[in-house]
Amino acid sequence: MIDFHCHLDLLKDPVAAIEKLKSSRTYVLSVTTTPRAFPKTAKLAKDADRVRTALGLHPQLVGERWRELSLFETLLPETRYIGEIGLDGGKEFSDSFEKQKEVFQSILQICSRRPDVIFSIHSRYAATSVLDHLEKNLNHGTPVLHWFTGTTKELERAIELGCWFSVGEPMLQSKKGLEHIRRMPKGRILTETDAPFTGSEIVSSLGRTERSLAKVWDVSQEFVSEQLRKNLADLAKTGTSV
Ligand code: MN
Repeated sequence: MIDFHCHLDLLKDPVAAIEKLKSSRTYVLSVTTTPRAFPKTAKLAKDADRVRTALGLHPQLVGERWRELSLFETLLPETRYIGEIGLDGGKEFSDSFEKQKEVFQSILQICSRRPDVIFSIHSRYAATSVLDHLEKNLNHGTPVLHWFTGTTKELERAIELGCWFSVGEPMLQSKKGLEHIRRMPKGRILTETDAPFTGSEIVSSLGRTERSLAKVWDVSQEFVSEQLRKNLADLAKTGTSV
């Protein structure tokens, strides 16, 4: 199974969680919310060969943490995975929205030297702004929109721009989420949990997510697993010259 967006470092017992993920042979993108959290989060995964650690600066934290952008730049050579980054247009974060845009643009700019980067992107109440930024920076990297909650129009634009999507239980439990998933190209979908924000039982959540996807696509769970594995392999090839 695949969890393409979770916060291992925010779980109560990350070490135990990694052991479980290792024994279930789960592929994981372990995202971080500040550059300062990257080194120790990456260390957690050093013996887990299916776990990749992403370098991030969460939009909800940009107001306090934007100064860590220089550390972001220093750490960039250590990974090809970038996240959690993006924009949050929620009222609670309106004070930092201008700064969020500045930081998001800087991150995309800094990453332009790396055509193979893969982004895990937050776009809550800000899908159009996120897509505007991606459109201006499309010649490098592959964006994966995590837990997409924009409008149908925004989704169609995202698909046209070549975005990928990571989907989890909250999307599969909402009517709009289900409609979105039906529109997304099957070849550009990965599963996610966003743990611990949606619960901490990663493996069982991924199982339920695969079974729900099987219903939506009207196929077997085996077909879903196979499709997701193929998608992950395709994603890994993006932006590389092989
Ligand atoms: Mn998250």
